[in-house]
Amino acid sequence: MFLLNGVDMERLLINGGKEQISVNVLPDICPICSVGVSPNFVTGFSFNDNGDVDLLFTCPKANCRKMFIASYRRDVMKGYHFLKSLLPRTPQAVDVVQEVAEISPQFAEIYNQAFQAEAYGLGEVAGVGFRKSLEYLIKDYCIAKNPDKEEDIKKRPIAQVIEAFVSNENVKQCSKRAIWLGNDETHYVRKWEGKDIKDLKLLIQITVNWIQQEVITRKLLEDMQ
Ligand SMILES: [Zn+2]
Repeated sequence: MFLLNGVDMERLLINGGKEQISVNVLPDICPICSVGVSPNFVTGFSFNDNGDVDLLFTCPKANCRKMFIASYRRDVMKGYHFLKSLLPRTPQAVDVVQEVAEISPQFAEIYNQAFQAEAYGLGEVAGVGFRKSLEYLIKDYCIAKNPDKEEDIKKRPIAQVIEAFVSNENVKQCSKRAIWLGNDETHYVRKWEGKDIKDLKLLIQITVNWIQQEVITRKLLEDMQ
């Protein structure tokens, strides 16, 4: 480590040891396991005429040890490279509570994919994914409570399913509104101006919480007759 224009610098050899560069900072988090680390530098190469470089590191954590790439841009005026981005981007899996994942494994899967799409900056696709996850959640929840009506529930539009089969008023009111916002994500014209994907996620989360509470309450009452 040394000082350059008042900034702490690291010197690294790149391009097969033929060239030395100074970087303003080394990555301090592994983009794969998301843990704070002092990564091991392996090698680096410049990839364009501007002198921008990709540096290869390995994660020192025993349960990770994966390789990742840190992209640096060259600042000609300041005479060093500054950290721009880390690859691969690895969105963390979202935990879906066990009571709900058991009712609808498909919900857990699609909900997670929607979160990943959002983490990759694909907000429009994420919105459609959240809407789809909600449909699975509500239909699987209704089928679990009305196994003899499975075919009927699968075929009906989701709004009708909520009206006809959801008796828990909290689940009904929240899921109904989540569907209103969810439909906005799939339709050409938005009906709910000023509401967005954040509100949709919140409503799905509350719906999940109400379903979880219902399941836990029922199990407790069954256990303590
Ligand atoms: Zn790691």
